[in-house]
Amino acid sequence: MKVKYNLTSPREVMAIMSQYGLRPQKGLGQNFLIDRNIVQKIIAAAEVEPGEGVLEIGPGLGTLTAELARGEGRILALELDQGLVRLLAEVLRPFSRVAVISGDALKADFIALANEYFPPGTPVKLVSNLPYYLSSTLMYRIFEQRFPFARAVLMFQKEVAQRLLAEPGDAGYGSLSVLCRYYCSGTFLFNVSRRVFWPRPEVDSAVIMLAPRPPLLLPGEEALLWRIVKGAFQLRRKTLLNSLSNIFPWGKEILSTLLAQASIEPATRPELLSVDQFAKLTRILYNYMREQNRFF
Ligand code: SAM
Repeated sequence: MKVKYNLTSPREVMAIMSQYGLRPQKGLGQNFLIDRNIVQKIIAAAEVEPGEGVLEIGPGLGTLTAELARGEGRILALELDQGLVRLLAEVLRPFSRVAVISGDALKADFIALANEYFPPGTPVKLVSNLPYYLSSTLMYRIFEQRFPFARAVLMFQKEVAQRLLAEPGDAGYGSLSVLCRYYCSGTFLFNVSRRVFWPRPEVDSAVIMLAPRPPLLLPGEEALLWRIVKGAFQLRRKTLLNSLSNIFPWGKEILSTLLAQASIEPATRPELLSVDQFAKLTRILYNYMREQNRFF
């Protein structure tokens, strides 16, 4: 099946957009991929098998979508810009296994969407060249929903990709990195130059792959993990003991004892704590709170 436009030619992209009375909207992070090689590399990394579903956030002009639609699996594309949704109906007309819906990814319930558009039990992969402005917020939302995907192949602004994959002690290591490591195992795939987008953004990008990790904690404990992680990184350069005493007003003595139970030095900085250490500390605090009937 062939798309009647060459979506990797800036001239054709401009022509089709103006046919629909559209212009790239900076506020929506509309930087369209115009490099066939990068498109192919993203699709190859997704390794979509027959019987799988793919969710694409922000299909734009359908460059990745059309390529995904040539492969296996059913595709659900979620686009915020109504003008692009009209254009996509035309661009993707040759493909029967693609559904384009209009909506805001920041408000999406991904499990409900999958249940609505894919047969029950379908493993769903997330494939997306994400708009820069929403990428960290969206990742927090995906982690809140406990990463309900069989795999994700995602393009981010390079610095966000680095933060997601950062290890304890790295410059960008923070709450996003800990939560990413808690829910996923991540792999850096490749860098992408700003030159392969139209219009050209001011930053370079990177593509990473995320796969789900079995949870270390129970759902109730996870709510506490979020509280600890967010609180720990809110005040940079504070010791863990000081950050924790801002969240839990039980006095430093009790907190030091609980930290000792987790084999963590009270003077440690959160930036050096691994996800396993955060999980261990969470479980100890959770059990203490249950025993003492304390709530947070
Ligand atoms: N996938 C296309 C590509 O690679 O050329 C377009 C990627 S472009 C970086 C980001 C896309 O996300 C745009 O089409 C934009 O309209 C869409 N978008 C922006 N905010 C969104 C949101 N909140 N929910 C869904 N899509 C959104």
